Amino acid sequence: MIQLDQTPLLTNGPQYCNKMRGEMINRYNRAKVATPITNPFTGSAFTTLWEDDASGLLHTGFVDDLLSSPMETTCSSYPQIDCYMKTCKLVYFGSFQIDDELNKAGKAISKPNRENYRRDFLSRYDNSWISSHKARHQSYFQNNILFRNFIQDVKRDLKTLNQAISGVTDYDFMDADYRHEILSRIGTEVCPYCNRQYITHYDEDGTTKTTADLDHFHPNSAFKLFSLSLFNFVPSCQICNSRFKLAKCYDIVYPYHRGFDESAWFKVQLNGNSTVDTLTGNSTHFDLDLEFDSTSTYAVQIQNSMELFNLAKVYQSHKEYVRELLYKKHAYAKTYQDDMQKLFNTMKLSEEQINLFLYGNKLLPEKLSMRPLSKLAYDVIIKG
Ligand SMILES: [Zn+2]
Repeated sequence: MIQLDQTPLLTNGPQYCNKMRGEMINRYNRAKVATPITNPFTGSAFTTLWEDDASGLLHTGFVDDLLSSPMETTCSSYPQIDCYMKTCKLVYFGSFQIDDELNKAGKAISKPNRENYRRDFLSRYDNSWISSHKARHQSYFQNNILFRNFIQDVKRDLKTLNQAISGVTDYDFMDADYRHEILSRIGTEVCPYCNRQYITHYDEDGTTKTTADLDHFHPNSAFKLFSLSLFNFVPSCQICNSRFKLAKCYDIVYPYHRGFDESAWFKVQLNGNSTVDTLTGNSTHFDLDLEFDSTSTYAVQIQNSMELFNLAKVYQSHKEYVRELLYKKHAYAKTYQDDMQKLFNTMKLSEEQINLFLYGNKLLPEKLSMRPLSKLAYDVIIKG
């Protein structure tokens, strides 16, 4: 997982709002005329989500915030939206397997720990919208069946609300050409989830196209209100978006906030078949592990990301690349280093240019999103 730069989202926000707000406002007006359905969580018309509390009129500032502000900023600015986000997360992440979660957290599997985990989970997403659901399911934490019944109760109402919201905010409002344009403007070159696949921009008859998929970080179907939020769009490769990410409802690392950074790293481990040739990059008789810092604040999200995108498994196909890196590292470190350094000094190259020359990679933590396998190369060469 590689961190993405937020700057293009902020820069393109105003243009994006100009393009998208008109349709949302038209749909809002149509929903108002047609007598909007009631939000099951508040008892008010669902359209009040778009309205100013004091005047009861459409809040155009909110429309722009929903489209182009960071999602956490929108949630902290609008209490009802914060309730919506927490309720969506409660339902979406609520399908966890309790014993798997205890394992990830390094806790023993026991009835008290299971109950505590369920209580902690609810407290993370608790909000005023679900107070009546909690009252109906006071023993929700005691076992899996009671917990599932509680989540299902909330999920039913959320489905009703999301169906209504889709009449005013839906990803279908965006046409394919504009999707290509937006993805190109975000401008990343490599899938941030796997750091393996290029996502390439190209010109087709004067129109910008891209090979990237538009991944909704919070899935479109479950977080309908954020289906057009710019900060919910992650350019990704098709495999990560379509095959891996849809498989499980996991809380993963949000790439606009951070990547794995120094909290997870690839490591070459010698095994029973390793020889001195392995150390000098002349064989692939080693294990390639993906390790993480279990004390990190984001340890669970990191584990979830590793599992969701099958990172440890898919990177096994890159052992030959790792062997090549080990070979170069050994050769340049021992034999040619002095001569190389003299040559580079003559050429006045920076350290990153030297690394680019030697390893085909700048090996800079802030440039990992520019080339595939950059994180792997960084960890093997720099951290090794
Ligand atoms: Zn990918």
